[in-house]
Amino acid sequence: MSSTEPLTAEESAAIRTRLDEVAERTAAAAKASGRSAEDVRILLATKTQPAERIRVAIEHGFSLIGENKVQELVAKADDLADLPHESHLIGPLQKNKVNHTLRHAQCIQSVDSLALAERIDNRLGVLDSTVDVFVQVNTSREDSKSGVAPEDAEALVAAVRDLDRLRLRGLMTIGLPGQTPEEIRPSYSDLRELRDRLIATGALPADATELSMGMSNDFELAIAEGATMVRIGSSVFGARPAP
Ligand SMILES: *Cc1c(COP(=O)(O)O)cnc(C)c1O
Repeated sequence: MSSTEPLTAEESAAIRTRLDEVAERTAAAAKASGRSAEDVRILLATKTQPAERIRVAIEHGFSLIGENKVQELVAKADDLADLPHESHLIGPLQKNKVNHTLRHAQCIQSVDSLALAERIDNRLGVLDSTVDVFVQVNTSREDSKSGVAPEDAEALVAAVRDLDRLRLRGLMTIGLPGQTPEEIRPSYSDLRELRDRLIATGALPADATELSMGMSNDFELAIAEGATMVRIGSSVFGARPAP
């Protein structure tokens, strides 16, 4: 994870080329949906990637990094400490790992219960600090996925809004993996409609407009449905070894 094995020039160049390709496709998809390229940010999903590969991406101007596991977030933090970047936790957070997370992440995208939100708020009280959060919604309704059920999202969002140390940025969803566009699209359109409704009811602050959705296989579709942040892993770093 924190191997100091230097990358070959070819490996570094390949990462830069793929980053540029993803950025071009993101900009084109944003424009096709009537937005500007700056309205959609690219977060790199860096699970299983050693710090050296992430370093290439940050040095190439892609400084929004997402880790799934607190352990990986912590393990790579020292190696990347000299490079300005923003770390998001995009995987499930156990309450006993909140402290470690707050030390290294500027945003937690996986808030899906009030108990977790309150634990984060408590720890921030001790640290006298704040953190950005997304409420994760299980729009695909898969039992195996984390995220609050869509019908419970309004109550959770309203409760998180009342926690002073959590700055609500918007909503996040994972969606259905590996399905056809027709099957994936509702996961993303549902999240956009939910955001619009929760802003209208006042549960979400008017400036909490972020929609974190879309991965390598479907990010253009997610952008068409309103994504403001896409989470890209394998398109940049190549296929991951099977877990
Ligand atoms: C791995 C991961 C991604 C990126 O997936 P790719 O298909 O590799 O682009 C996005 N979001 C989350 C939560 C992930 O775990």
